[in-house]
Amino acid sequence: MNDHYHHAQASAAVRAVALKNALEERALVPEGYVEKFTEIMQNDFDPANGARVVARAWVDPHYRELLLSDGTAACAQFGYTGVQGEYIVALENTPALQNVIVCTLCSCTAWPVLGLPPDWYKSFEYRSRVVRESRTVLREMGLDLPDEVEIRVWDTSAETRYMVLPFRPSGTEDWTEEQLAALVTKDVLIGIARPGAPTHQPRVKQ
Ligand code: FE
Repeated sequence: MNDHYHHAQASAAVRAVALKNALEERALVPEGYVEKFTEIMQNDFDPANGARVVARAWVDPHYRELLLSDGTAACAQFGYTGVQGEYIVALENTPALQNVIVCTLCSCTAWPVLGLPPDWYKSFEYRSRVVRESRTVLREMGLDLPDEVEIRVWDTSAETRYMVLPFRPSGTEDWTEEQLAALVTKDVLIGIARPGAPTHQPRVKQ
């Protein structure tokens, strides 16, 4: 991860504080709103949810079919519904295809299954470069894909939220769902990492 990502992280934090202060000065933030919303975010919206969805899809072909045809319904079976998860589309990876998610406009992720976007995901650097030079950006983030692997970048929106369904790593045939889920991180669900492969270490803890 180069310094451009790091600088974008700092400026995002500064902008967020400035916005919060401006809203508070005008009494536009209800009492306790930020605290309550932060609590919901931390407790309910967790990439471990998306990991459970992936693990189920790996062991249950019917569930996998549902996930790929109606991601929202498949996630709802676990109770993973709600704000920013109204319409979830799962993107199927294969050894020859890597799907990657970005929000070129801002920072959209499928909150109920991915959690909040990491800081690097919100950076101008990632949002612009992953579209133009995805292979290079993935390599910088620790995912060095051979040239024969196709990369598809999906631009999320306010309406459609994506999650990546990675392919099940070989050698995990007798693993339990719980063990399988432990392989799936937020980075894997966004598509900048593959399960079982080395993942990048964010400088800022998410
Ligand atoms: Fe967005």
